[in-house]
Amino acid sequence: MWSYKDQPEKGWRVTSLVLLATSALLAGCMSCGGGNTVPAAELPHFGAQRAFTDLERQVAFGARMPGSPGHQQQLSWMISTLQPLAEQVRQQHFTAKTGLDGPYEFTNLLAVFSAAAPGPVTLLGAHWDTRPVADQDPDPTLRSQPVPGANDGASGVAILLELARIFRQTPPPHPVYLAFFDAEDSGKSGSGLLYGGYCLGSVYMVQNWPADLVRPERAIILDLVGGVAKPNPRVPVRTDLGANDYFDLRVEGYSAQAAPELVDQIWSIAEKLGHGAFQRARQTAIIDDHLPFIAAGIPAVDIIDFVPPVWHTVDDTPEYCSPQALRQVGETMVGLIYGRE
Ligand SMILES: [Zn+2]
Repeated sequence: MWSYKDQPEKGWRVTSLVLLATSALLAGCMSCGGGNTVPAAELPHFGAQRAFTDLERQVAFGARMPGSPGHQQQLSWMISTLQPLAEQVRQQHFTAKTGLDGPYEFTNLLAVFSAAAPGPVTLLGAHWDTRPVADQDPDPTLRSQPVPGANDGASGVAILLELARIFRQTPPPHPVYLAFFDAEDSGKSGSGLLYGGYCLGSVYMVQNWPADLVRPERAIILDLVGGVAKPNPRVPVRTDLGANDYFDLRVEGYSAQAAPELVDQIWSIAEKLGHGAFQRARQTAIIDDHLPFIAAGIPAVDIIDFVPPVWHTVDDTPEYCSPQALRQVGETMVGLIYGRE
């Protein structure tokens, strides 16, 4: 079932360590507790436009599929962006065959914030690779092209990087890990691999968690959170959505089963902030990077718009994403990190 080849000479390594003096800031945040969500005005500002610029930047690297130059450029850029922001940036290297081909070299990143603060320990994760084939494209002649991955890949990463800037400015009151998973999107149903060969990076991270780092107590995955700014002329308009056409974050099935309290907490925060994309209605159960955490007994929630019209097509580009979508998810995550008791 497994196709991993461990590389013990690499494994985890700490690439930077910055000790932050956080006590004064922590005292300020902790006093906001009491179980109530902090009003939006009191939360650190989430720069949606800045996050959107990071989304565009990633797409400008080209496809970030395994073995590509864009994949390497994206990795270097994420590391250099995170190093001045996080207390630690850890790299986890592994080699794997994907559901499509390979083997390739892969790298997960883990950026650590407020490690010395009291629990609970939260992991926020997104995949940073992109799909090598646009196999959902309506035009069969385009299905061997790579997916640009503006929504599917770049959107989650863009939110995490903006959160990293916020965490640097205002250290979270509890430990937070930002996880950047490689090798999520090269799966193929029927490949015989676990999860169809999707989620290789998150599986590897959970199964090879660094011994000197406390395991997360809860995980939230962001995927396909870039919204859709306008209809695409090549794909049918969705008719299953109401007022939130083109961006719809219904509760994912496995998340509802495995982490109902965390789902309720997140959706309550979104409602208090007025972010209508978060809807309580249930959507289908989806194979994504939350499953390895759930399998390891860690409550995990997948925040995902499944599926935007341009999903796995060559039109998964920034023009079909929007800063407003990033803002809804980003502010909700800020509320979760700073607003809880
Ligand atoms: Zn995908």
